[in-house]
Amino acid sequence: MAGPFLLSSSFLYLLACFSSVYAAAGRPRRFQTPINHDLYHSGTGLIEKIESLVHRHPDKLTVETLKSGTEGYNADVTVVTYGQSGKQSDDRSKIRILIGFGQHSRELITSELALRILSILSEEQFLPGMDRASLNGTLENLVIKVVPLENLNGRKLVEAGELCERRNGRRVDLNRNWGIDWGRKEKDYDPDEEYPGTAPFSEPETQIMREVATSFNPHIWVNVHSGTAALFMPYDHKKSTPDGLPSQRTRALIEELNMVHCHGRCKTGSGGASVGYLAHGTATDYMYDVVRVPMSLTFEIFAGDKTLNEDCFRMFNPVDQTTFERVLNQWCATLLALFKLGPREIDVHSNYMEQ
Ligand SMILES: [Zn+2]
Repeated sequence: MAGPFLLSSSFLYLLACFSSVYAAAGRPRRFQTPINHDLYHSGTGLIEKIESLVHRHPDKLTVETLKSGTEGYNADVTVVTYGQSGKQSDDRSKIRILIGFGQHSRELITSELALRILSILSEEQFLPGMDRASLNGTLENLVIKVVPLENLNGRKLVEAGELCERRNGRRVDLNRNWGIDWGRKEKDYDPDEEYPGTAPFSEPETQIMREVATSFNPHIWVNVHSGTAALFMPYDHKKSTPDGLPSQRTRALIEELNMVHCHGRCKTGSGGASVGYLAHGTATDYMYDVVRVPMSLTFEIFAGDKTLNEDCFRMFNPVDQTTFERVLNQWCATLLALFKLGPREIDVHSNYMEQ
């Protein structure tokens, strides 16, 4: 009878532990792993670090801060541009790539990836096994715009302890606020997670991103998220991918990236078909259908343990240094492969972008 006795006393001990957690939180809540500040920058700290990186490399990098506001709610979005000629925005013969990070505030790892890829582009950091000469040959023909932290206001809420918040500073999901199939609700729609705002483009962050996209008119768009491991293409709001050659070429590319850089373990295909629910008003669908970006992608760069429930820092971000470095190296390699292979899959003479 020793076994059952031990089991039941352990059970009582566990119950006691949970009770104290419940009492301390003031309402039923599970344990939440705090942000690991040894690995992660604060939002403003990350932007400052990126600004000083840019100022050390004026031959390759420029930075601007775009501002917008409505009804007393204001947002700043920092945009970094990489290009080797020094007059990047004038050079229309190059392939243009736009990458957004940190749209969902609890997905801190994505903005760390932005800092890391900019450090590699500036040649301050190197990826293990990277052929720098080959990379420089690739980069000569590109202009890359990076938005390291789209949702700085939401990030501040997370840093203040709301570790599960993914929306912006006034609780709108920025990846449901775009003017494509906006506002449609699913049966399992969760207003705490997916509130789309009062209208399409009601949010200053989304207005700024739309302005960046329409003025830059990229050939490739990547929206970087975390929570699963995936390489998604349109559509998020339907369980299908678009017809036609650009879509077929995008599918071939993401399958190759999956095999080489994700060991075949990333989900691929349309977000709507693969993620288990449809999403309405997303950036990637708008970029494809309205801005007419021929290669519009969503990367999901880290799959935490879904059973952790409410332990959001751990669900969306690596918490130990080994995993942190592995994720950054893996996805820097994926982005560099995209820079090399993506332009080959885009027919610059196609009239897709002019339609
Ligand atoms: Zn996300």
